[in-house]
Amino acid sequence: MLASLLVRPGCLELREVETPRPGPGEVVVKIRAALTCGTDLKAFLRGHPKMSLPTLFGHEFSGEIARVGQGVTAFREGDEVMSVHSAPCGHCYFCARGQDNLCQMTMSAKVMGAYAEYIRVPAHIVEQNMFPKPAHLSFQEAALLEPLACVLHGCEQFTLRPDDAVLIIGAGAIGLLHLLVLRTLGVENIIVSGRRAYRLRMARELGATRVIDAASEDPVALVMEATRGRGADVVIECTGRPEVWESAIQMVRRGGQVVLFGGCPSGTKITVDTGRLHYDQITLTSPFHYTRAAVRRSYEVLADGLTTARRLITAEYPLERLPEVFSLLRQGECLKYAVIPFQSGE
Ligand SMILES: [Zn+2]
Ligand SMILES: [Zn+2]
Repeated sequence: MLASLLVRPGCLELREVETPRPGPGEVVVKIRAALTCGTDLKAFLRGHPKMSLPTLFGHEFSGEIARVGQGVTAFREGDEVMSVHSAPCGHCYFCARGQDNLCQMTMSAKVMGAYAEYIRVPAHIVEQNMFPKPAHLSFQEAALLEPLACVLHGCEQFTLRPDDAVLIIGAGAIGLLHLLVLRTLGVENIIVSGRRAYRLRMARELGATRVIDAASEDPVALVMEATRGRGADVVIECTGRPEVWESAIQMVRRGGQVVLFGGCPSGTKITVDTGRLHYDQITLTSPFHYTRAAVRRSYEVLADGLTTARRLITAEYPLERLPEVFSLLRQGECLKYAVIPFQSGE
Protein backbone atom coordinates (compact mmCIF):
# COMPACT_ATOMS: atom_id res chain seq x y z
CA MET A 1 0.00 0.00 0.00
CA LEU A 2 1.00 3.63 -0.25
CA ALA A 3 1.80 5.46 2.98
CA SER A 4 3.21 8.88 3.66
CA LEU A 5 6.11 8.63 6.10
CA LEU A 6 7.66 11.39 8.15
CA VAL A 7 11.30 10.75 7.26
CA ARG A 8 12.85 13.63 9.18
CA PRO A 9 11.48 16.95 10.44
CA GLY A 10 10.10 18.87 7.49
CA CYS A 11 10.25 15.90 5.09
CA LEU A 12 7.39 13.60 4.11
CA GLU A 13 7.83 10.78 1.61
CA LEU A 14 5.20 8.68 -0.11
CA ARG A 15 6.42 5.07 0.00
CA GLU A 16 5.18 1.65 -0.93
CA VAL A 17 5.05 -0.35 2.32
CA GLU A 18 3.55 -3.67 3.28
CA THR A 19 -0.23 -3.56 3.72
CA PRO A 20 -0.94 -4.32 7.38
CA ARG A 21 -2.66 -7.56 8.37
CA PRO A 22 -4.87 -7.83 11.43
CA GLY A 23 -3.77 -9.90 14.41
CA PRO A 24 -6.26 -11.42 16.84
CA GLY A 25 -8.86 -8.83 17.88
CA GLU A 26 -7.51 -6.28 15.42
CA VAL A 27 -8.98 -4.75 12.30
CA VAL A 28 -7.47 -3.14 9.22
CA VAL A 29 -9.30 -0.03 8.10
CA LYS A 30 -9.25 1.27 4.54
CA ILE A 31 -8.81 5.00 5.11
CA ARG A 32 -11.54 7.10 3.54
CA ALA A 33 -10.57 10.38 5.22
CA ALA A 34 -7.66 11.46 7.41
CA LEU A 35 -7.53 14.93 8.93
CA THR A 36 -4.56 17.11 9.68
CA CYS A 37 -4.08 18.23 13.27
CA GLY A 38 -1.97 20.82 15.06
CA THR A 39 -0.06 18.01 16.76
CA ASP A 40 0.91 16.64 13.34
CA LEU A 41 2.21 20.04 12.29
CA LYS A 42 4.31 20.29 15.46
CA ALA A 43 5.75 16.81 14.86
CA PHE A 44 6.35 17.62 11.19
CA LEU A 45 8.30 20.77 12.06
CA ARG A 46 10.40 19.60 14.99
CA GLY A 47 9.98 15.84 15.33
CA HIS A 48 8.43 14.29 18.42
CA PRO A 49 10.16 12.81 21.49
CA LYS A 50 7.95 9.71 21.27
CA MET A 51 8.38 9.09 17.53
CA SER A 52 11.45 7.48 16.02
CA LEU A 53 11.85 8.48 12.40
CA PRO A 54 10.97 7.46 9.77
CA THR A 55 7.46 6.85 11.01
CA LEU A 56 3.94 6.32 9.75
CA PHE A 57 2.09 9.53 10.40
CA GLY A 58 -1.38 10.95 11.02
CA HIS A 59 -3.92 9.95 13.67
CA GLU A 60 -7.39 11.31 12.81
CA PHE A 61 -9.26 9.00 10.47
CA SER A 62 -12.37 7.18 9.41
CA GLY A 63 -12.89 4.51 6.81
CA GLU A 64 -14.22 1.08 6.14
CA ILE A 65 -13.19 -2.25 7.57
CA ALA A 66 -10.99 -4.02 5.03
CA ARG A 67 -10.11 -7.08 7.13
CA VAL A 68 -10.95 -8.34 10.59
CA GLY A 69 -8.68 -10.40 12.79
CA GLN A 70 -9.56 -13.58 14.62
CA GLY A 71 -12.17 -13.12 17.31
CA VAL A 72 -13.55 -9.77 16.13
CA THR A 73 -17.33 -9.92 16.36
CA ALA A 74 -18.34 -6.26 16.60
CA PHE A 75 -17.30 -5.35 13.04
CA ARG A 76 -17.35 -7.00 9.64
CA GLU A 77 -15.62 -6.35 6.35
CA GLY A 78 -17.21 -3.38 4.62
CA ASP A 79 -18.50 -1.72 7.79
CA GLU A 80 -17.97 2.04 7.83
CA VAL A 81 -16.25 3.05 11.04
CA MET A 82 -14.83 5.96 12.99
CA SER A 83 -12.17 5.59 15.64
CA VAL A 84 -9.64 7.40 17.76
CA HIS A 85 -6.01 6.30 17.88
CA SER A 86 -5.66 5.30 21.53
CA ALA A 87 -7.52 3.55 24.32
CA PRO A 88 -6.75 2.80 27.97
CA CYS A 89 -5.97 -0.55 29.62
CA GLY A 90 -9.09 -0.45 31.78
CA HIS A 91 -7.59 -1.74 35.03
CA CYS A 92 -4.65 0.39 36.23
CA TYR A 93 -4.70 2.95 39.08
CA PHE A 94 -5.75 5.77 36.75
CA CYS A 95 -8.35 3.75 34.86
CA ALA A 96 -9.91 2.71 38.17
CA ARG A 97 -10.29 6.37 39.08
CA GLY A 98 -11.90 7.51 35.85
CA GLN A 99 -8.70 9.26 34.75
CA ASP A 100 -8.00 6.85 31.93
CA ASN A 101 -6.61 9.69 29.80
CA LEU A 102 -3.54 9.30 32.05
CA CYS A 103 -3.31 5.51 31.64
CA GLN A 104 0.12 4.38 30.50
CA MET A 105 -1.39 2.35 27.70
CA THR A 106 -3.22 5.38 26.31
CA MET A 107 0.12 6.91 25.40
CA SER A 108 2.31 3.89 24.73
CA ALA A 109 -0.04 2.00 22.41
CA LYS A 110 -1.24 4.82 20.16
CA VAL A 111 -1.70 4.00 16.51
CA MET A 112 -0.20 6.24 13.86
CA GLY A 113 -0.49 5.99 10.11
CA ALA A 114 -3.71 7.63 9.01
CA TYR A 115 -1.89 9.21 6.05
CA ALA A 116 -1.88 5.87 4.27
CA GLU A 117 -4.24 3.64 2.34
CA TYR A 118 -4.77 1.27 5.26
CA ILE A 119 -4.24 1.33 9.01
CA ARG A 120 -4.12 -1.54 11.49
CA VAL A 121 -6.07 -0.80 14.66
CA PRO A 122 -5.03 -2.70 17.82
CA ALA A 123 -7.54 -4.83 19.72
CA HIS A 124 -7.89 -2.59 22.79
CA ILE A 125 -8.88 0.34 20.56
CA VAL A 126 -11.28 -1.77 18.48
CA GLU A 127 -12.97 -2.91 21.68
CA GLN A 128 -13.31 0.48 23.33
CA ASN A 129 -12.98 3.39 20.97
CA MET A 130 -14.19 2.33 17.52
CA PHE A 131 -17.78 3.00 16.42
CA PRO A 132 -19.96 2.31 13.39
CA LYS A 133 -20.18 5.46 11.28
CA PRO A 134 -23.77 6.68 10.94
CA ALA A 135 -24.74 6.91 7.26
CA HIS A 136 -25.64 10.60 7.55
CA LEU A 137 -22.11 11.54 8.60
CA SER A 138 -19.49 12.01 5.92
CA PHE A 139 -16.13 10.29 6.41
CA GLN A 140 -14.56 13.70 6.90
CA GLU A 141 -16.96 14.65 9.69
CA ALA A 142 -16.53 11.22 11.27
CA ALA A 143 -12.78 11.76 11.41
CA LEU A 144 -13.40 14.65 13.82
CA LEU A 145 -14.05 12.07 16.56
CA GLU A 146 -10.57 12.47 18.07
CA PRO A 147 -10.18 16.27 18.24
CA LEU A 148 -13.75 16.65 19.46
CA ALA A 149 -13.12 14.05 22.19
CA CYS A 150 -10.15 16.14 23.38
CA VAL A 151 -12.28 19.29 23.46
CA LEU A 152 -15.18 17.60 25.28
CA HIS A 153 -12.78 16.17 27.85
CA GLY A 154 -11.39 19.67 28.35
CA CYS A 155 -14.87 21.14 28.75
CA GLU A 156 -15.50 18.81 31.66
CA GLN A 157 -12.72 20.37 33.66
CA PHE A 158 -14.55 23.64 34.27
CA THR A 159 -18.04 24.85 35.06
CA LEU A 160 -20.00 27.19 32.85
CA ARG A 161 -23.05 29.40 33.02
CA PRO A 162 -24.82 30.46 29.84
CA ASP A 163 -24.23 34.12 30.76
CA ASP A 164 -20.47 33.66 31.16
CA ALA A 165 -18.11 35.69 29.00
CA VAL A 166 -15.68 33.15 27.57
CA LEU A 167 -12.42 34.06 25.90
CA ILE A 168 -10.85 31.55 23.52
CA ILE A 169 -7.22 32.29 22.73
CA GLY A 170 -6.16 30.69 19.45
CA ALA A 171 -8.48 30.46 16.45
CA GLY A 172 -7.15 27.19 15.03
CA ALA A 173 -9.31 24.08 14.72
CA ILE A 174 -9.15 23.34 18.45
CA GLY A 175 -10.10 26.89 19.42
CA LEU A 176 -13.00 26.87 16.96
CA LEU A 177 -14.17 23.42 18.07
CA HIS A 178 -14.40 24.89 21.56
CA LEU A 179 -16.45 27.71 20.07
CA LEU A 180 -18.88 25.23 18.45
CA VAL A 181 -19.22 23.18 21.63
CA LEU A 182 -19.82 26.26 23.79
CA ARG A 183 -22.47 27.46 21.34
CA THR A 184 -24.30 24.14 21.67
CA LEU A 185 -24.18 24.62 25.46
CA GLY A 186 -25.98 27.92 25.07
CA VAL A 187 -23.05 30.24 25.80
CA GLU A 188 -23.54 33.43 23.83
CA ASN A 189 -20.77 35.74 24.81
CA ILE A 190 -17.63 34.26 23.26
CA ILE A 191 -14.58 36.28 22.33
CA VAL A 192 -12.01 34.64 20.06
CA SER A 193 -8.47 35.93 19.76
CA GLY A 194 -6.22 34.80 16.91
CA ARG A 195 -3.65 35.93 14.39
CA ARG A 196 -4.77 34.67 10.99
CA ALA A 197 -7.35 36.49 8.90
CA TYR A 198 -8.92 33.27 7.57
CA ARG A 199 -9.39 31.81 11.03
CA LEU A 200 -10.77 35.01 12.52
CA ARG A 201 -13.26 35.23 9.68
CA MET A 202 -14.33 31.64 10.40
CA ALA A 203 -14.62 32.44 14.12
CA ARG A 204 -17.01 35.25 13.27
CA GLU A 205 -19.03 33.06 10.92
CA LEU A 206 -19.25 30.29 13.49
CA GLY A 207 -20.73 32.56 16.11
CA ALA A 208 -18.00 34.41 18.01
CA THR A 209 -19.45 37.58 19.53
CA ARG A 210 -16.22 39.40 19.03
CA VAL A 211 -12.87 38.58 17.46
CA ILE A 212 -9.52 40.08 18.36
CA ASP A 213 -6.64 40.15 15.90
CA ALA A 214 -3.77 39.53 18.29
CA ALA A 215 -1.27 40.40 15.55
CA SER A 216 -2.35 44.04 15.52
CA GLU A 217 -4.58 44.61 18.57
CA ASP A 218 -3.94 44.38 22.32
CA PRO A 219 -5.95 41.37 23.56
CA VAL A 220 -5.62 42.23 27.26
CA ALA A 221 -6.96 45.77 26.80
CA LEU A 222 -9.78 44.63 24.53
CA VAL A 223 -10.89 41.79 26.80
CA MET A 224 -10.96 44.13 29.80
CA GLU A 225 -12.95 46.65 27.78
CA ALA A 226 -15.43 43.96 26.69
CA THR A 227 -15.95 42.74 30.26
CA ARG A 228 -16.24 46.08 32.10
CA GLY A 229 -12.71 45.77 33.40
CA ARG A 230 -13.37 42.46 35.14
CA GLY A 231 -11.78 39.98 32.76
CA ALA A 232 -13.41 36.92 31.19
CA ASP A 233 -15.25 34.41 33.37
CA VAL A 234 -13.52 31.57 31.59
CA VAL A 235 -10.37 31.76 29.46
CA ILE A 236 -9.51 28.81 27.21
CA GLU A 237 -5.95 28.86 25.92
CA CYS A 238 -5.49 26.89 22.69
CA THR A 239 -2.06 27.85 21.37
CA GLY A 240 0.39 25.85 23.48
CA ARG A 241 2.83 28.73 23.94
CA PRO A 242 4.14 29.52 27.44
CA GLU A 243 3.92 33.29 26.98
CA VAL A 244 0.27 32.90 25.94
CA TRP A 245 -0.40 30.74 29.01
CA GLU A 246 0.88 33.65 31.09
CA SER A 247 -1.22 36.25 29.31
CA ALA A 248 -4.29 33.96 29.57
CA ILE A 249 -4.01 34.25 33.34
CA GLN A 250 -3.98 38.04 33.06
CA MET A 251 -7.28 38.08 31.21
CA VAL A 252 -9.46 36.12 33.62
CA ARG A 253 -11.66 37.79 36.22
CA ARG A 254 -11.34 37.33 39.98
CA GLY A 255 -12.78 33.93 40.83
CA GLY A 256 -12.58 32.88 37.18
CA GLN A 257 -11.24 29.80 35.50
CA VAL A 258 -8.35 29.40 33.09
CA VAL A 259 -8.17 26.32 30.91
CA LEU A 260 -4.67 25.77 29.59
CA PHE A 261 -5.57 23.43 26.76
CA GLY A 262 -2.62 23.77 24.38
CA GLY A 263 0.38 21.67 25.42
CA CYS A 264 3.68 23.60 25.43
CA PRO A 265 7.08 22.26 24.34
CA SER A 266 8.48 19.97 27.04
CA GLY A 267 10.66 21.61 29.66
CA THR A 268 9.14 25.08 29.28
CA LYS A 269 8.02 26.97 32.38
CA ILE A 270 5.63 29.78 33.17
CA THR A 271 5.54 32.31 36.00
CA VAL A 272 2.28 32.89 37.82
CA ASP A 273 1.47 35.83 40.08
CA THR A 274 0.67 34.14 43.40
CA GLY A 275 -1.53 37.08 44.35
CA ARG A 276 -3.77 36.45 41.36
CA LEU A 277 -3.89 32.75 42.11
CA HIS A 278 -4.69 33.15 45.80
CA TYR A 279 -6.29 36.53 46.51
CA ASP A 280 -8.17 36.52 43.21
CA GLN A 281 -8.92 32.83 43.66
CA ILE A 282 -8.25 31.86 40.06
CA THR A 283 -8.61 28.24 39.04
CA LEU A 284 -6.07 26.87 36.59
CA THR A 285 -6.67 23.59 34.84
CA SER A 286 -4.80 21.94 31.99
CA PRO A 287 -6.75 19.05 30.46
CA PHE A 288 -4.82 16.43 28.56
CA HIS A 289 -5.94 14.04 25.81
CA TYR A 290 -9.33 12.33 26.28
CA THR A 291 -11.02 9.72 28.40
CA ARG A 292 -13.02 6.83 27.02
CA ALA A 293 -16.16 8.58 28.26
CA ALA A 294 -15.24 11.70 26.26
CA VAL A 295 -14.80 9.61 23.10
CA ARG A 296 -18.28 8.15 23.58
CA ARG A 297 -19.72 11.65 24.03
CA SER A 298 -17.84 12.90 20.99
CA TYR A 299 -19.42 10.07 19.00
CA GLU A 300 -22.87 11.02 20.25
CA VAL A 301 -22.39 14.71 19.53
CA LEU A 302 -21.24 14.00 15.97
CA ALA A 303 -24.00 11.45 15.39
CA ASP A 304 -26.55 14.01 16.62
CA GLY A 305 -25.23 16.32 13.93
CA LEU A 306 -22.73 19.01 14.91
CA THR A 307 -23.11 20.08 11.31
CA THR A 308 -21.13 23.28 11.65
CA ALA A 309 -18.04 21.18 12.41
CA ARG A 310 -17.61 20.35 8.73
CA ARG A 311 -16.68 23.98 8.15
CA LEU A 312 -13.44 23.35 10.05
CA ILE A 313 -12.25 21.32 7.06
CA THR A 314 -10.78 23.85 4.68
CA ALA A 315 -10.20 21.60 1.66
CA GLU A 316 -9.41 18.05 0.65
CA TYR A 317 -6.31 16.65 -1.03
CA PRO A 318 -5.22 13.26 -2.32
CA LEU A 319 -2.61 11.43 -0.24
CA GLU A 320 0.25 12.09 -2.68
CA ARG A 321 -0.11 15.84 -2.15
CA LEU A 322 0.51 15.67 1.61
CA PRO A 323 3.77 17.70 1.47
CA GLU A 324 1.82 20.54 -0.12
CA VAL A 325 -0.83 20.25 2.61
CA PHE A 326 1.83 20.69 5.29
CA SER A 327 3.27 23.75 3.61
CA LEU A 328 -0.24 25.24 3.59
CA LEU A 329 -0.62 24.36 7.28
CA ARG A 330 2.59 26.22 8.01
CA GLN A 331 1.18 29.33 6.40
CA GLY A 332 -1.84 29.10 8.70
CA GLU A 333 -4.55 30.59 6.49
CA CYS A 334 -6.59 27.44 6.94
CA LEU A 335 -7.96 25.12 9.63
CA LYS A 336 -7.86 21.39 8.92
CA TYR A 337 -7.30 19.54 5.65
CA ALA A 338 -8.85 16.22 4.70
CA VAL A 339 -6.50 13.75 3.07
CA ILE A 340 -8.27 11.26 0.83
CA PRO A 341 -6.18 8.21 -0.20
CA PHE A 342 -8.75 6.66 -2.57
CA GLN A 343 -10.85 8.57 -5.04
CA SER A 344 -14.51 7.56 -5.03
CA GLY A 345 -15.18 4.19 -6.61
CA GLU A 346 -11.68 2.90 -5.82
ZN1 LIG B 1 -5.55 15.28 16.64
ZN1 LIG C 1 -5.09 1.98 32.57
